[in-house]
Amino acid sequence: MTRFSFTVHATDGAARTGVVSTPRGQIRTPAFMPVGTAATVKAMLPENVRATGADIILGNTYHLMLRPGAERIARLGGLHRFMNWERPILTDSGGFQVMSLAGLRKLDERGVTFKSHVDGSRHELTPERSMEIQRLLGSDIVMCFDECTPFPADEATAAESMRLSMRWAARSREAFGDRPGHALFGIQQGSVFRELREESSQALRAIGFDGYAIGGLAVGEGQEAMFAVLDYAPGLLPEDKPRYLMGVGKPDDIVGAVQRGVDMFDCVLPTRSGRTGQALTRRGAVNLRNARHQDDPRPLDPDCACPCCRNYSRAYLHHVHKAQEIIAAMLLTWHNLHYYQELMQGLRDAIAAGRLDAFVADFHARRAEGDLPPL
Ligand SMILES: [Zn+2]
Repeated sequence: MTRFSFTVHATDGAARTGVVSTPRGQIRTPAFMPVGTAATVKAMLPENVRATGADIILGNTYHLMLRPGAERIARLGGLHRFMNWERPILTDSGGFQVMSLAGLRKLDERGVTFKSHVDGSRHELTPERSMEIQRLLGSDIVMCFDECTPFPADEATAAESMRLSMRWAARSREAFGDRPGHALFGIQQGSVFRELREESSQALRAIGFDGYAIGGLAVGEGQEAMFAVLDYAPGLLPEDKPRYLMGVGKPDDIVGAVQRGVDMFDCVLPTRSGRTGQALTRRGAVNLRNARHQDDPRPLDPDCACPCCRNYSRAYLHHVHKAQEIIAAMLLTWHNLHYYQELMQGLRDAIAAGRLDAFVADFHARRAEGDLPPL
């Protein structure tokens, strides 16, 4: 049986390209993971998600534990079979969404108790319960249960929060046990404080994980502050293990993070934007709601090979979005995910060829040109 492993094939500066191997398939890195919150990548069939080039998707523990329930998914054969996605799945720990979505929560050393945003029922999440839920789902990459430190936080608050997360990381490791073929990732915290990120990394390395996430970023600090942390944070983590920047991000966030040594990403932006009429393209964001598109017979992006750009006009996309037709979300989500995966392939190829700087310069130059001029 294939064990979980990570191989770096090439580096260019701090950037790396390689492969994460799992029993359910390989994940080419740098990798973007589409978000399948409630056992679906919204508006996409799983085979279409794969067709965009995705090797792995993300599922949300918080949502799935509340509805339809982890035990029910386990009885139905696990999350892969339930949602018809046979390739790798990473699940988050539920911690972040408990903090951001749940009502009336109480946090203590043991874990978090909270009220469901779905039906008001009471639940508890602890490191042990989070590991159990992620095992019931059948997740390939399991995340430690942690507290996402709010931003901004002063150094004392960030330290206290990070140290709680490190104690929870040790309990997560203990509860996860030995599960060949499945991976457990630790999560570095410490907000924007270098000493705290160093302390967190040492604590995680002492416990030992199959991969390491950088948490507590993309929570409102802005790109400049995030890149300032990423200038050193990936380097604090083991070189021979994958590094995952949670919840990031916009295309330029991803490019900058790859340059700084990050291997894995997830974000709702391409799927969520697809449902609000926003396309993400080589030329930057394009808002299909804008009336300038209503008589435009040109494709969204003439250089894109996705079904949306090959077969439909901007005028059509504008119309179906305005008319609130379901196909608007389907087509724009497909394009956005295709664009993200093409960007990741471009980054991987550029790193392998040792021409990442030229790739990044071209990426920014094309965005600076802006959208096609109006007809
Ligand atoms: Zn397209």
